[in-house]
Amino acid sequence: MKLNEKGDLKYYTFENIEKTNIVKHCFSTKFGGVSAGCYESMNLAFREDKRENVIKNYEIICDSIGLDYKNVVFSSQIHEDKIYKVTKEDIGKGLLRESNIKGYDALITNEKDIVLVTFYADCVSIFIVDPINKAIGIAHSGWRGTVKEIGIKTIKEMEKQYSSQPKDLIIGIGPSIEKCCFQVGEDVVEQFKNMLPFSKDYIFNDTQKGKYKIDLQNIIKKSLINNGVLEENIEISNLCTMCNNKTFFSHRFMGDNRGSLAGIISLYN
Ligand SMILES: [Zn+2]
Repeated sequence: MKLNEKGDLKYYTFENIEKTNIVKHCFSTKFGGVSAGCYESMNLAFREDKRENVIKNYEIICDSIGLDYKNVVFSSQIHEDKIYKVTKEDIGKGLLRESNIKGYDALITNEKDIVLVTFYADCVSIFIVDPINKAIGIAHSGWRGTVKEIGIKTIKEMEKQYSSQPKDLIIGIGPSIEKCCFQVGEDVVEQFKNMLPFSKDYIFNDTQKGKYKIDLQNIIKKSLINNGVLEENIEISNLCTMCNNKTFFSHRFMGDNRGSLAGIISLYN
């Protein structure tokens, strides 16, 4: 991943996704917005922040990457595995008008200029580009979504809707809480071992007895490869949001009094 700096604004991009030349995208940081307090400063979800500040933040970050913030579409996410196909009729939903897109953790589209947005504060973002059929997707994959393989379900839905083939997909796996910090108990580990047996190679004993650390980004990468995505087409951030809590909002570090990061992607060509 590459860090981009424009004045106060800082955001990350995937080099493999930039090279497709058909999308504009970014993963935000805390820097460059107008929000204050625990939302300082680039908060991209309403939460308890001032509405006009959040909208202004969208204007700033979208302008900077060459997108129109009025075309933003987002869902309310619930750590499930439902996927929503976004069309022009959905433009503005979530940010500028009432949305009926609720309970979806992944968004896909093959229409230009729609700005797909999903939210993060430790969970993993999965950016998906099909340069052949010109379609995109973005999935919010926390540990629950990872156990349910929301990334795989999203690429299967793109195959159904847009004829996308896994071998053609260009994928970015964004900053999230990583194996250095993502401590879990036996219950979470059991779910991984039951649902994704291969994940045992990415689960480590913690120094604290009865606790474990999980490498979510690499579990997702492996699950994509197991489903036909080419390893060379996957760019993984390896950035930990909790270690880098000065740069990223981290739920584990800040609790509920925090802003939200966003994964933003739009087809333009
Ligand atoms: Zn860490």
